[in-house]
Amino acid sequence: MSTTSTPKRKAKGPRPRHVPQRTCVACRSTDAKRTLLRLVRTAEGTVEVDPTGKRAGRGAYLCARVRCWERGINERTLVRALRLETLTEENRAALLRYADERVPEGSDDEEGTQDQG
Ligand SMILES: [Zn+2]
Repeated sequence: MSTTSTPKRKAKGPRPRHVPQRTCVACRSTDAKRTLLRLVRTAEGTVEVDPTGKRAGRGAYLCARVRCWERGINERTLVRALRLETLTEENRAALLRYADERVPEGSDDEEGTQDQG
């Protein structure tokens, strides 16, 4: 008895792509849903934000939360993740500024005490 009952269908359309897990270097959480922002090490040894996520070079991810950016930048986890020795003041300031301007506060449950009135 040889019933060929293995449905081998070749889906033509968009493949069920494997969703890569990103890990925030600051809080170590892997969250595919939350948009993690990519930072890339440039040839000059500086760190730049890579909104497209396609730039060549060693990259590291941070949550779209200011808290994680400050932590990653100030606690040097980002620097280590990118195998850098250090981050220049200028570069650091630029990244923090980016976080300040573009990254949402991330009002999660952690931060919920706001005075009313
Ligand atoms: Zn994080």
